[in-house]
Amino acid sequence: MLERLQQDLRGLKQITATSRRHWTTGRKIRTEFRAAQADGRRIVLDDYGPATPIPGTDQPAADLAPKTGLRPRKSHLMTLEAYPSTDYAFEFKSPPVSGNHINGLGESEHRVASPIFHTWKFGHPMGKLEFLFQGIRTPAEWVALLKRQWNTRRFTGEKAAVQVPVDNPADMTEQIKALTRELGACMVGIAPLTDDMLTEDLPLDYPYVISFGVQMDREAALQAPSEHAGLMIQSEYRATDRISAQVADHIRGLGWDAEAAIHGFLQIPAAVEAGLGQLGKHGSMISKELGSMYRLGAIATSLPLVIDGPEDIAVDDFCAICQVCTTNCPPQAIFDTKQMIRGRERWYVDFDTCIPYFVENHGCGICIGVCPWSDPGRGEAFSLKMMARRAKRAQNP
Ligand code: SF4
Ligand code: SF4
Repeated sequence: MLERLQQDLRGLKQITATSRRHWTTGRKIRTEFRAAQADGRRIVLDDYGPATPIPGTDQPAADLAPKTGLRPRKSHLMTLEAYPSTDYAFEFKSPPVSGNHINGLGESEHRVASPIFHTWKFGHPMGKLEFLFQGIRTPAEWVALLKRQWNTRRFTGEKAAVQVPVDNPADMTEQIKALTRELGACMVGIAPLTDDMLTEDLPLDYPYVISFGVQMDREAALQAPSEHAGLMIQSEYRATDRISAQVADHIRGLGWDAEAAIHGFLQIPAAVEAGLGQLGKHGSMISKELGSMYRLGAIATSLPLVIDGPEDIAVDDFCAICQVCTTNCPPQAIFDTKQMIRGRERWYVDFDTCIPYFVENHGCGICIGVCPWSDPGRGEAFSLKMMARRAKRAQNP
């Protein structure tokens, strides 16, 4: 009882701190940015927010300009008449350290990822852009964010003094998966927790991670970027936060350690390892059932569980011959070939090119909306077709 009261107080404190930050820091940048957008001017981002590091001699500066070269397209699925312009209402006098450099683009040695955005600590290299992103929320978006933050109060907590023994991890796994689904998840899997899922700010030390997805509202997603699509995303993330908090709370009630792995946790590598889907060219996961129309959440735990392996559904084969996301991305941020990122070769989105568009429009997501796998009911057939082609190629090399 006392523990829950303390959790509620923590939640209230967090909401109060966020609200205060919003009113004291957000108002100026919001007003001036919106006026610049309306008048076709640019604000100079160097003038806002706390000081951020400038590029050193071994750190390249970010090139935030949109790319050109591909023939741009506008998918008929996306409901806005035209995608918003790439002529941004902000600029830098001194561009920040490249986000691609921070992400380890081109690095052949494996290392833990560095935090880069959505940190709420604006002193990091991308801090000015995050300051703008957090500052320009509409009142409705702020209310949605505060509602979301209320769930975080139960992300961690004390476990019960008496531990329920787990004689059959397979049964326990089924129970936990059933609970996660009952609470609203549409998919759930178990992975070993590895440092591919962590950032330097989040040294979680648990053997397992329960990864799950919540279905996105496709109709709203196809309206991106827009306030309506943004609000829907907040409410979907609120569901992932709530489920993570409730499952973690349940496991702690069994006397095992558990915490919601949300802030600073890399959800996509965990979900891929848990067999929920595979990484697509657009940098998000693609599942057979939902394409990229889901939001991910996770719980790290010591509760003995049975691990699901990753599943090959032939996303790589499809992405190798598809360019729907690359040609629909307004600033052309999506690499057409796999890149080396911190010692792993994988699909990658150019951070420095994507993030200005994402910030200017307070969210984007066009790439996941247009992905053919996101069209309901088509993923299974895509997977079967690509697998059959692969088998045929193997027979007739
Ligand atoms: S979110 Fe996707 S479509 Fe939007 S700018 Fe980034 S990569 Fe491009
Ligand atoms: S749009 Fe095409 S290339 Fe892009 S992630 Fe989806 S399947 Fe892959």
